[in-house]
Amino acid sequence: MSVAVELFERLATPAVRALRAYDPGHDLVALRARFAPAALVELGANENAYGPSPAARAAVLDVLNTLHRYPDPTGAALKARIARAQELDPAGVVLGNGSHELLMLIAQAFATPGTEVVASRYGFAVYALAAQAVGATLRLADALPPAHAMPLGHDLDALAAAVGPMTRIVYLANPNNPTGTWFPRAALERFLGRVPGEVLVVVDEAYAEFVDDPAAGSAVPLLAAHPNLVVTRTFSKAYALAGLRVGYALAHPQLAAVLERLRESFNVNSAAQAAALAALDDDAHLAWVVERNAEERAALAAALSARGLRVLPSQTNFLLVDFGRDTAALEPRLVAQGVVVRPVGGYGLPHCLRISVGTRDENRRLLAVLDGVLA
Ligand SMILES: *Cc1c(COP(=O)(O)O)cnc(C)c1O
Repeated sequence: MSVAVELFERLATPAVRALRAYDPGHDLVALRARFAPAALVELGANENAYGPSPAARAAVLDVLNTLHRYPDPTGAALKARIARAQELDPAGVVLGNGSHELLMLIAQAFATPGTEVVASRYGFAVYALAAQAVGATLRLADALPPAHAMPLGHDLDALAAAVGPMTRIVYLANPNNPTGTWFPRAALERFLGRVPGEVLVVVDEAYAEFVDDPAAGSAVPLLAAHPNLVVTRTFSKAYALAGLRVGYALAHPQLAAVLERLRESFNVNSAAQAAALAALDDDAHLAWVVERNAEERAALAAALSARGLRVLPSQTNFLLVDFGRDTAALEPRLVAQGVVVRPVGGYGLPHCLRISVGTRDENRRLLAVLDGVLA
C-alpha cells in the first residue's frame, strides 16, 4: 500500500507534487450531523443567508423534467442574458462551474513552469492554487500596512512593481476575500496603464453586487479599452446559488475563445443555467438581499467594535475581525457551541477570524456565544 502511494506521488507532475489541496475549513457535514439545524450558525463560507430568488428555485424544479438531457454545452441563453446585463458581446462571456473553475482555467491557458503569476499577500487562496497547479512561480506583492485606511488591502503600486518580464497573469480581487477591502476603479485604471498589454489582469469580482461605496466601482467598463483585462463574477454569493456552481468571466472575445477551448463542454449543469437565468431577472430580490446585508454588516461591525475588536472595512457579506491575539484556542470554542466562522491562519492572519454576515438572528447568536468565550 505505502509503495503504491509513493509511486503515484512520484508519477504526479512536479507542479502537482508541490501542490496542497484547497483547505475547505470545517467538516460541515459532520457539524450538521452533530447539531440540530436551528442550533448551528454557519458563518464560515460567505454564503448568502437569505437564499436565492424564488424564481431561481422554480427554474430548478422545471429542470427536473429534463434531467436525462445534457445541458446546453454553449450556455447560449445565459451568456446572452449576462452580456445584455453588462452591455457586452456574448462572445466575451465564458461560463464556469463556479468562478473557481475559471480562475484555474486562466492559469492553465496562459501560465507554464518558468513563468510568473502575481497576486497580493492576503489575496484569495485560489490564485496561489491556480499558479501552483500549472507549475508557474507565484510572486506575492506586499499588501497595504495594517495602519492604512484600507488595512491589508491590495497595494496596486506593489503589485505593478512585482510584474516582471516573466509575468503572465496578475490576480486581484475587488473586493478581496478574506480582507473585505476594495480599491477604486481609478486606481485599477492607473494600474492597467502600468502593466504591459501581454500580461493578463484578472479582477475577481465575486462580491461586486454587495459594493455600495461609489468610489469603488466595477472593472467591467474598462474591458473595452483593455483587451488584457478579465473580470470574473459568481452566482455563489449575492445570488445565493453556491450549491449549483455557476460563475462567469468577461473578457475580450479573442481571449474568451482561448478559454473556451479548455472549458469542459458541459461544465455548467442545466439546473445551474436555468437558476442563474431566473436570478438575473429578479432585480428586486437581489436589491433586497444587498440592502439587508448592508444593514446587518454595519450593525455587526458596530457590535464587534463595541467589544474592543478591530473590524476591517468591508464591502462584502463578511467581516475580517482582528482579535489582537492568536485565535487558534478561541475558535474551536465557538464551533463547540455551534458557531462556525473561518480561521484565516492559513492566510498568515492567525490573530483574525473571517465572519460572514448572517441574518439578524444569526448575528445575535454569534455575539452571544462570542461574549461567553471572550469573558
Ligand atoms: C467565493 C469566492 C469566489 C467564488 O467562488 P465560486 O467558485 O464562484 O463559488 C471567487 N473569488 C472569491 C474572492 C471568493 O470569495
